[in-house]
Amino acid sequence: MENVVIIGSGCAGWTAALYTARANLNPVVVTGANPGGLLTTTSIVENFPGFPEGVDGTELMMKMQAQAERFGTRVQFGATVEAVDLGKRPFVVTVDGEKLEAKSIIIATGAGHKHLDVPGEDELEKKGVTYCATCDGALSMFRNQPLVVVGGGDSACEEATYLTRFGSIVYLVHRRDTLRASKVMAERALSNPKIKPVWDSVVTEVLDVKTGKVTGVKLKNLKTGEESILPCAGVFVAIGHYPNTQLFKGQVELDEHGYVVRKQGSQTSVEGVFVAGDCSDPVYRQAITAAGMGCAAAIDAERYLGSLNQ
Ligand code: NAP
Repeated sequence: MENVVIIGSGCAGWTAALYTARANLNPVVVTGANPGGLLTTTSIVENFPGFPEGVDGTELMMKMQAQAERFGTRVQFGATVEAVDLGKRPFVVTVDGEKLEAKSIIIATGAGHKHLDVPGEDELEKKGVTYCATCDGALSMFRNQPLVVVGGGDSACEEATYLTRFGSIVYLVHRRDTLRASKVMAERALSNPKIKPVWDSVVTEVLDVKTGKVTGVKLKNLKTGEESILPCAGVFVAIGHYPNTQLFKGQVELDEHGYVVRKQGSQTSVEGVFVAGDCSDPVYRQAITAAGMGCAAAIDAERYLGSLNQ
């Protein structure tokens, strides 16, 4: 029987592993099919404290794994959790057909960026197409260049406003003519002279796969049907995230967007099941906040396991 099974291997999962390992809980991490999580999909990470020159996202995750393993974390690398049963004790986690029994669980399955699903998007990812302005906005390829942000929510407005520090102009491409964003965020974005909204429009293609870098986007105006090309060096897709929580539907309480609900600290609706990182955080969604939540979940799990022995 395991003390703690950690599901997910992003910043939250590895930090939870580090702390539970150092508490002698001998944790197991089931990494999932994409070990390292979202950070491995970005290029250089310049906002994780301790790396003044920035650090490659994959390298950072490998270092976190090594640090967790140094203190005894066991890793099921590449393994996927197929099912969980949190309705009985011990909890049961089915990993690639094998059943693990656990006294406690830390859910750290992260989130995914919604994609536009248009030609050129996947091919030009990391070559001008990005899903995180905070992570990538300051890269030299975007400096003093026209940039496009797609979306009309708080994320899009926040990212567009942030990107005005770097881009020569920031086009905010939204499929309607009113923003979904909160009033404050929308007003801040729309009153910024460097942000130009492009209403009622969708990106139908990212250009130019042939040159291997972003040179512009093809737009379609949904009201007039008119098509046009907007030259730019970067496309920041901010059309929302989806939490990777399908596995836990009906097992722990999720909010209406699918994020795991935290009841007290990192405790979920099920005692002994804790959560950390982007699968429970629609607001901050940063590597460092996910790591902090992983630490908190580990401490909560340690206290919970201690209470079982009293
Ligand atoms: P969101 O509120 O779901 O907004 C997504 C936006 O993308 C919407 O404007 C939507 O258009 C558009 N969109 C969705 N699919 C699209 C598609 N396929 N093509 C083109 N456009 C598409 O997502 P979010 O902005 O990431 O925010 C998520 C949550 O986090 C919200 O609760 C938000 O308040 C919160 N958040 C808070 C902060 C903060 O407080 N600092 C910052 C960021 C996010 P429609 O409007 O037409 O549906």
